[in-house]
Amino acid sequence: MSENTPPNPPESPGSLPPVTIGFVFDGGESPEVQQRVAWLRDTLLRSLQRDFPEFAWSIRLMPRRDFPQDLPLDPLELLEFGSDIKIEYGLDFLLVFSSMPLKARFDQTVSGVPSNMLETGVVTLSRLLENSDSEVIDRAMLALCRHILGHLWGLDHNEDSVMRPREFWSGDEPLDWSVEEKKDIGAYLQNIADPRLEETSVAATSVWRFYIQVLFREGVVLARDILLFRSWLMMLHLGRFTAATAVSIIFLFLSAEAWEMGAAIRSGWLDLILILVLLAATLSLYFGQNLQGVGRSDRMMEQAVRSRIVLFGTLLVGMVSFWINLFIVSLGVIYLLPDGVLAGWAGLGDQPLPMVHFAKLMATFGILASSLGGNLEEEHDLKAVLVYTEET
Ligand SMILES: [Zn+2]
Repeated sequence: MSENTPPNPPESPGSLPPVTIGFVFDGGESPEVQQRVAWLRDTLLRSLQRDFPEFAWSIRLMPRRDFPQDLPLDPLELLEFGSDIKIEYGLDFLLVFSSMPLKARFDQTVSGVPSNMLETGVVTLSRLLENSDSEVIDRAMLALCRHILGHLWGLDHNEDSVMRPREFWSGDEPLDWSVEEKKDIGAYLQNIADPRLEETSVAATSVWRFYIQVLFREGVVLARDILLFRSWLMMLHLGRFTAATAVSIIFLFLSAEAWEMGAAIRSGWLDLILILVLLAATLSLYFGQNLQGVGRSDRMMEQAVRSRIVLFGTLLVGMVSFWINLFIVSLGVIYLLPDGVLAGWAGLGDQPLPMVHFAKLMATFGILASSLGGNLEEEHDLKAVLVYTEET
């Protein structure tokens, strides 16, 4: 594969921590597009060297002959394509450029898609190139790239900088990050510039020990990423998943057998079943949606392992929070239904109904059914929800 990529010499070797970015594009793009990407590389490189002199910056131009060709280009496919190249060449970040339009999943149109998880972004120049003023195109490209890179470097949206979300990238100000944002970027990159685990002498050679090492080194950061952001987002997007769960819960509530069985299951067993069901549901979605293919690599790489841990953790936390929601809803419904009827269904006679026990049971069976429904989602939508940081 190396024949695809002419080696670029590193710009400023020395003792500074290196940050390397790859710019990948189709080798068959027109000379105009290739020139624009090269201009962007030079301009961005100069500004990064000026703003962050504490790093040794390098941006590699990487024309490819194996660029995906199916139109409209699927950003998810391009992200995975770019992420594979990034891992193979040991780059820190990578942007994939194309002059072709991108397929929009959650928005009307899309000019770029960053993925924090894959440390990769996708940029299309198709709408930018419609502009007749060459200088406007340059400014719009620069702003869009800084916006995408800003997301990859941990920034959120900000009305007063290039991180302002825009419907259309027309090259209007502001084109740069704010002073505070530059400080945040510097701190973020300091972490990234540390040697990756596989570059150190302590890296384990067995898969399990390597995973445990990554968890030990990065556990807190990974947990924050999973808990604060991704799992909530995931649940918002899963329409069919939620519908399947709602239907199965309604049927459960209406069947006397479910109540009888609930009365027969002891509380300790139910807890054990709950844990097994949550794990099984997560695994079923993980493999059902082919998520183990994200960040694939022949060798053990810290970045690939991180992506997989975040993906699996997000699904698991998503399942747990989903279960909690179901539990609360079930508890509410049980509370509202007449006691006598439910106790009769459960075969409890005059004994009081253990409401928490039954709410747990309903929520657990709901999750079991919904994990089957989760695999009904459009093949790649769930993956996109997990991998995309945004569509812009
Ligand atoms: Zn954005």
